[in-house]
Amino acid sequence: MKQITALALFSGGLDSILAAKLVASLGVRVLAVKFVTPFFDYELLEDPEKYKQEIMEKYGLEVILHDLSHNYLELLHNPSHGFGKNFNPCIDCKILMCSRAREMMAECGASFLISGEVIGQRPMSQRRDTMRVIERDSDNDGLLLRPLSAKLMDPTKAETEGWVDRDKLLNFSGRGRTRQIQLAKEFGVTDFPAPAGGCILADPILSERIEKIYKGDFVIQVADIKISDIRLLLVGRQFELSGGGWLILGRNEKENQKIESLTEDGDILLHMPEHPGPTALLRGKNDVIFNDESLHPVLYKAADLVARYGKKIKGEDTGVIVETERMGNGSNSLIHVLSHGLVSGDDA
Ligand code: SF4
Repeated sequence: MKQITALALFSGGLDSILAAKLVASLGVRVLAVKFVTPFFDYELLEDPEKYKQEIMEKYGLEVILHDLSHNYLELLHNPSHGFGKNFNPCIDCKILMCSRAREMMAECGASFLISGEVIGQRPMSQRRDTMRVIERDSDNDGLLLRPLSAKLMDPTKAETEGWVDRDKLLNFSGRGRTRQIQLAKEFGVTDFPAPAGGCILADPILSERIEKIYKGDFVIQVADIKISDIRLLLVGRQFELSGGGWLILGRNEKENQKIESLTEDGDILLHMPEHPGPTALLRGKNDVIFNDESLHPVLYKAADLVARYGKKIKGEDTGVIVETERMGNGSNSLIHVLSHGLVSGDDA
């Protein structure tokens, strides 16, 4: 008999693990797809092989990573089902993921899709009527099996075709986790992430930063928004400087390195070569403010902030040197910041 393959939408949370393992235990080959965007799990793209190995070792599942960033940046302009409590367009997000998974079915040789959704678990996206809408709007009528709640739903193609035994599927509903934890034990799954999830758009504080851009209320115009802008918004201390500059200051070594890794041509990187403190990145509204070879006041302000957040060393009252580097053309300058203000800037 032909081996049936299912493509599982895999968030990495317990429900998605259990849904995939349950269907795999019924003799179906399960291939998991993990979607990433700058708002969740983007860092996995830094080492996809490591992630694949980890998921195979922990859960015995084959996984592929798929970057949905560009579609996602578009989606946030005007999600047709609106936003949740924060800037989280959960219903449209799921429709997007299910649509993309639908498109991937042919190349993966998959006959149906799986998701770990449980009826009634989330107020917005896991209501029975909403789950139906997600299926319909993603062109997945009858193709999307939710194994954890399947017995409470109409049979899907996987069941009517006999690819999976409906009797072995489950009837989970509601927000409780007891049955999931029990099932995890049965499958020997002990290491799984906490249910809170890692989506920035559902975070009350970080999602506000994203919303500000989309409302046109930020230095960077929404039409120009890039993946690196979103990634930068989520790191360090953030400042909007008068004159059109956006300054990001690292709060620790890890953030300093991250900021450095996100620089692009046209950005200005600042740090104190002889003093412990933040690495900072200055990005402009447009090139105009940074095109002038003279040191612009916005740069002085940025240097001042770098110095202010640097480590205070007792007895040092002569101020610090902040070095600036313009990315792309390598031009440098040194700014001397005294404890009581700025005194000089020298092109180096
Ligand atoms: S919490 Fe984030 S990742 Fe999850 S459905 Fe909502 S928008 Fe999508």
